[in-house]
Amino acid sequence: MNVVPPTSASLIAPLAGVLPSGGLLTAEEDLARYSRDWSGDHFGRPLAVARPASVEEMSALMRRCHEEHIPVVPQGGLTGLVGAAVAADNGEVVISLERLNKVRSINPIDFAIVVEAGCILEDAKRAAEDNDCLLPITFGAQGSCRIGGNVATNAGGFNVLRYGMTRDLVLGLEVVLADGRVWNGLKVLRKDNRGYDLKQVFIGSEGTLGIVTAAALKLYPRPTHIETALIGLRSVEDAMTLYARARRDCSDLLSAFELILRRGIEITLQARPDFADPLSRAYPVYVLVEVSAGGLVDLSAMLGDFLAGATDLVEDGVIASSRAQGERLWLYREIMVERQGRGGRYLRTDVSVPISKLAHFVADTLAVLEEARPDALAVTYGHVGDGNIHLNVVPPLGMGPEAVEQLFEDAEAHIFAVVDRYGGSISAEHGIGRVKQKAFLERIDPVALDLAAGIKEAFDPRHILSNGRILAPKSVIDYR
Ligand SMILES: Cc1cc2nc3c(=O)[nH]c(=O)nc-3n(C[C@H](O)[C@H](O)[C@H](O)COP(=O)(O)OP(=O)(O)OC[C@H]3O[C@@H](n4cnc5c(N)ncnc54)[C@H](O)[C@@H]3O)c2cc1C
Repeated sequence: MNVVPPTSASLIAPLAGVLPSGGLLTAEEDLARYSRDWSGDHFGRPLAVARPASVEEMSALMRRCHEEHIPVVPQGGLTGLVGAAVAADNGEVVISLERLNKVRSINPIDFAIVVEAGCILEDAKRAAEDNDCLLPITFGAQGSCRIGGNVATNAGGFNVLRYGMTRDLVLGLEVVLADGRVWNGLKVLRKDNRGYDLKQVFIGSEGTLGIVTAAALKLYPRPTHIETALIGLRSVEDAMTLYARARRDCSDLLSAFELILRRGIEITLQARPDFADPLSRAYPVYVLVEVSAGGLVDLSAMLGDFLAGATDLVEDGVIASSRAQGERLWLYREIMVERQGRGGRYLRTDVSVPISKLAHFVADTLAVLEEARPDALAVTYGHVGDGNIHLNVVPPLGMGPEAVEQLFEDAEAHIFAVVDRYGGSISAEHGIGRVKQKAFLERIDPVALDLAAGIKEAFDPRHILSNGRILAPKSVIDYR
């Protein structure tokens, strides 16, 4: 049978009148800001942008999309790095969560916040702070990413080694399902063993199983003291030995341990002439260490004593003397992340291996890359307290687009081959989306793939939700 593909206008016609005025954008000039993600690598013009302002509106919208087989993709702050939140060109309706952005409640005795999915992470963090609490999801994109995106990607960040990933912080969820039903699992209970823990299925599902409309998240006491140090070391191996000691000696108060190889510091120095080399001379490896606590702990003495006892490892270091100086030390890392690509494309990886193997893994991978693609400029940094490292590849200046594509393909294949040898993961944080799908499907255990396909079928039998992210795309037309 010949299936005539529907036109853009005919696909979205059934959505007319489902949302109140202003809820559905179709004008070209309105669609632009929902079409490109933070990285600039992914572009897709949506058929339309739906902006429900309540759970009831979201439910009505999804019911209609389900009835009419209209493909959709939920969108948060567009900071995701695997091309998952941008529409397939002219093939999907973007559902923006931006109007569902309220903090519904905070209870400092429950140590819990209930927040809508479109709330910007930084706003939720500020609301927690106003109640003397900490929402510990922390990373560079927190001023733009949204809570629903954090849940859908199971976001990590700087403080995972102390507080866990987003998954560890979710107490409950409210989700609008593909057919418009609302699952109200928005509990703030710390313990609840009634049957299957359904929220886990949605966390990290990258918009493929349901649309998160609100989340109940754990809070922690807000630290009143934070101490930050930047340390220079001889090798990644020394950095990892220092990490293991810090875990033991800093009384569980270690909240970040970030590794940066020298090239990362040089990127910041080149990008910002107002930034001086942070230590007395250049070192091959740096770590940013943060300890934090509330109450009566003398953190400054603890960190000072710890570093004084590690002179066999620490070559040089600076301990921030104020919060402002601590924040400036963090800028060496943040500027590097933003400027590493020199304004152009670069290959991003976010792999993980067991923490105990990380130093050897980095050495092996850099050696393999150097041998296979000496023209690749590797930029290496990461949340090494979680065994998670970003081994990014910047092309040489002036390389043509096709050669750049080939370089990325070669470099990624080499990096992932070493990850496989170390029993690691090709995605520690950013997820699969569309960018990592091929590599993911090449590696997934067949039983796991069967189970995953069964879950997708149960939650979204018409494949209208984020079709082609994580799992291979299905033709939505086949399901009409
Ligand atoms: C500078 C920078 C630093 C970063 N650092 C980190 C880091 O340290 N750790 C880390 O984990 N990530 C990091 N990221 C990646 C990114 O910020 C996270 O993945 C973030 O959680 C994405 O949130 P978002 O709101 O931007 O989601 P989007 O990019 O809009 O969407 C991401 C995915 O979630 C889905 N989605 C969004 N909202 C919903 C919803 N309400 N319901 C269902 N699905 C939804 C989308 O369809 C898509 O699949 C970084 C990104 C940048 C740009």
